[in-house]
Formats: sequence, structure tokens, C-alpha cells
Amino acid sequence: MANLYDILAAGFPADRSKPAFLLSDGSAVSYAELEAGAAQVAGHLVSSGVAPGDRVALQAEKSVEAVMVYLGVLKAGAVFLPLNSAYSRAEVDYFIGDAAPRVFVTDAQAFRAEADAADPLLTTVERADDHLASLIYTSGTTGRSKGAMLSHGNLAANARALHAIWGFSPNDVLLHALPIFHVHGLFVAMHCAFLSGAPMVWLAKFDDAQMIAGLAKSTVMMGVPTFYTRLLGNPQFTRERTAHMRLFISGSAPLLESTFAEFEDRTGKRILERYGMSEAVIITSNPLEGARIPGSVGYPLPGVDLRIGGSEETGVLQIKGPSVFSGYWEMPEKTAQEFTADGWFITGDVGRQDPDGRVWISGRAKDLIISGGYNVYPKEIELILDELAGVTESAVIGVPHPDFGEGVVAVVIGAQGEALDEAAMIAQCRGQLAAYKSPKRVVFVDELPRNTMGKVQKNLLRDRYADLFAV
Ligand code: AMP
Repeated sequence: MANLYDILAAGFPADRSKPAFLLSDGSAVSYAELEAGAAQVAGHLVSSGVAPGDRVALQAEKSVEAVMVYLGVLKAGAVFLPLNSAYSRAEVDYFIGDAAPRVFVTDAQAFRAEADAADPLLTTVERADDHLASLIYTSGTTGRSKGAMLSHGNLAANARALHAIWGFSPNDVLLHALPIFHVHGLFVAMHCAFLSGAPMVWLAKFDDAQMIAGLAKSTVMMGVPTFYTRLLGNPQFTRERTAHMRLFISGSAPLLESTFAEFEDRTGKRILERYGMSEAVIITSNPLEGARIPGSVGYPLPGVDLRIGGSEETGVLQIKGPSVFSGYWEMPEKTAQEFTADGWFITGDVGRQDPDGRVWISGRAKDLIISGGYNVYPKEIELILDELAGVTESAVIGVPHPDFGEGVVAVVIGAQGEALDEAAMIAQCRGQLAAYKSPKRVVFVDELPRNTMGKVQKNLLRDRYADLFAV
């Protein structure tokens, strides 16, 4: 049994009348309905001529029917290609041109309904471990977006590992408010629930009031760091309301140490931070039992080998393991560049591993600043800025500088009501950092640009401040 659909379905509860989705209006969708929906979609795809390996694209709002399409595509042996619902027509044109899907679903409800005309597919189409299950386009802040090819074996291995290390059981209820066009909401979260036969409290999107209501029924929450900061911004988010929760997990972007601390202060619970990417799903995780250390993304998952490229203590993380993708869709040269000659995937994330085995990430290699010939790691400066009085958050970037090549710029969000002074802040940094690392300019903003997964878009900041040192 290698088709991911069958592996997930083996985790569905024996009593299929149990809920798979608990919806905001109080209704539920059972595992029986989910299974039947997937079988109808699969039947419809197969009878429409979709063959194993054909791509099926979906660009639609989050819904139970969209999940039925996802599972139906797997069951039919086809390849699931999710697209961010915010993509523009021009972006979609690129993906469709690149991946050449056989079917493009834009309305999951309508597709699910028309699938009722077909005979359900009762027997899952056989697939091998290395057959393609999904094509995930990377967010691609530089250059063309690339389709990461994930196989049935990749996804099954990661799902099983997470299900085990995070201690999922049929008694869990997962609070799911993530988008399902990205690996976090699509694979990490849903696969843990399916393998446990557990229900998900299903929210179309993040809304703090709905989250707080949903928590009452849940045992585990998965979110991006912005979910946690927004929850902390709501006074209704209290120790009492979270006391019964077994686990809070964060990932997709770095969790600020201040958020971790504030969360522990408020709830008495320590957020479990993990690290992953489209090309390998989850790579490292803090432990369920044992110390969860703020600022560290924890240990490599069982079966994942990790090493640091280069000869320094800090360098680009390289990985090998059962969940590591096989390459980028129809980009053999790009693929070859991102694997070492001995088969390690070069993640593009810079970090180090301490003697205890814990991994610490200091940013993306492409965000590295080279000022006056010296390497400057933005995270080092951000950590210092974030400690300064009145600073809520910071993002450090390099922009063209006539003398230094790149000049270090700090983009800072001040706490409300704080009057911050650029010269004073630069002077404080100079007291703690070598001159070449200290920001040459500090700009104050109300908000940092983020994508839907909560990642700060440093490329947009670099564009915005490109002329700061222009002469
Ligand atoms: P994506 O492929 O869109 O999921 O983005 C993956 C990237 O997100 C990784 O390569 C990291 O740069 C970043 N990322 C994910 N989780 C974390 C984390 N816990 N801490 C820091 N960066 C993270």
C-alpha cells in the first residue's frame, strides 16, 4: 500500500460516522462523507480520462469540498497542484503553462457536486512510493516560482513521523485555520488529523474571536507566528480558555522569542516551534517531551540527516531524508544546483546545530548582507534590536550603498506610543555590535509586509528602501 490516500484512510476511525470536520455553523462532516466525497471526485476524474500522473490544479477558497478534491486526486493516482487563492490571472497562467494540468478546478463545491454523476472509485489507483503525489510551487520571492515534486513516499513518511513525535491520538481535536494551498495547512496539519482519525475544528481563515471559540473544542492548534501574536492581542485569550489544550505548534516563519515568552506568561504553555519548507515538509521540531527552547527549531526529525555546508559553525543547512523532494518540475538544471554532488538538498536556510543536536536558524542565505566585504547575518542584529526598549519587532536588510556595496538598514516597529529615535538606536547598536554590522539607518514603520504564511517579505523592503543611500 503506497498510495498516500490509502495510508491516510487507514487512520480514519473504524466508526466512519465520527466527525472529520466541525464547522463554524455548528454542523459536522463525517469521515463517511469525506470518504464518499473523495471516491466521487476520484470516479469523476478517472471517467473524464485523468490518468495516473496527470496534474489536477485547484485554485479555490478553503472548504471541505476542496479537501475532497485533494483526496480524490490522490485516490485517482493523479497529482495534486494547489494554487494560492490570491494568485492573479497572470500568475495562474504561469503555473498552468508550466505544470500543464489535465483539469483545473476553480470551484470546489461545483466540482464536487458534478462528480455525483460519476460512479465512485472504490479501489484506490495503485502508486509506488516514488510516484508523484503533489506539485507545490514555492513562493518564489526571487526568480521564477518552482514546482517542488513531492512523492507519495515523501508525504507518507513525514505524516507518520509527525503523527508519532507530536503524540497524536484519536482523542485529539485539531484547530485548523491555515490555508490549504500550502504544505503547512494541507499536509502537516491535515495528515496528522487523518492519521489519528481525529476531527478538525475547521475555520475558513484566521479570526481571533472564532479561534478563541474553536479552542474550547480543541486539543491541538497549529499556526503561523502571526496567529499567536494576534491571539495575544485579544484580552479574551486567557489561561482559563487554553488550560485544556495539549499542544500549540508554530512554524512557517520564525517565532519571536518575545512571542514565546508572552505566550508562556499568558497561558503557562510553551509553544512547540518546528521548521519546514515546501521541498521537504517538516525538517526539525522541538520535542513534545523535553525542553522547547525559544529561538531554536529543535532536532532533525527521525530519519532526517542534517549538516552545515561550508567550514564555519554557521552555514547553509543541508538535508537528506525520506521526505526530501526529488526535484523541481521540469527544471533539471535548477534541481542539480540545489543538491550537492553527494545528494544533500541545500535548503537555502542559514543556521547552526549545537552540540546537543538542536538547530538554530539565522535566516535565508539570500537575505545575507555583505557590507564592506563582511558577511552580516540579519538575525543577529534583529535579536539585539528586539531587546531594545520600545521595539516590538524588526527586520534587517541590506540595500545598495556607494561605499560598502550594501548598507545595513533596520526596519523597526515601535511599541504603541513609544517615541523612538534613529540616532539613539544606532548608537545603542554600536555599543553591542561591530561597526560593520550596526545599522547605518533605522526606519520606523507600523507594519512589516508579510505573505499569507506570515513570512516577512524582505524583498519588498529591499525594493522600498533601495535608494536610501543613493548619492
Ligand atoms: P515554504 O516553502 O513557503 O514553506 O517556506 C519555507 C521557508 O520558511 C524555510 O526555508 C524557512 O526559511 C522558513 N521557515 C519555516 N519554518 C521556520 C521556522 N520555524 N523558523 C524560521 N524559518 C522558518
